[in-house]
Amino acid sequence: MGKLKEIAQGWINSVRDSLGVLSPEIKELSEKRLEICSTCPLNVHGYCDPFQSLPAVQDFTYTTNYGVEERKEGELYSGCSCPLGPKSKSPISCCPVGKFLDVKQEEDGNRTKD
Ligand code: SF4
Repeated sequence: MGKLKEIAQGWINSVRDSLGVLSPEIKELSEKRLEICSTCPLNVHGYCDPFQSLPAVQDFTYTTNYGVEERKEGELYSGCSCPLGPKSKSPISCCPVGKFLDVKQEEDGNRTKD
């Protein structure tokens, strides 16, 4: 259910953005995330490539299609296959290797890392 909520939230906010009614906070969040994704090797034509992997840059909690898992810094994880535009606009969304986190984890003390 978690992933479906992320996807729905990202697409709804993309529509809001195209209508010019996206909140400035989410717009800023999206721009910051897209800047991180712009230099990431897993960004293939605007999608997070599930056929490549990278080591996580920090310990963090990640929601997969099968549940929640604790990811460890230095271990390899695949891209999530998400379109990065909508993903960047979902505050509950998280980079699969921890380069940016969902807003709750950011507030709890983990930090976005490039
Ligand atoms: S979501 Fe993370 S792993 Fe995927 S392209 Fe963006 S920075 Fe890279």
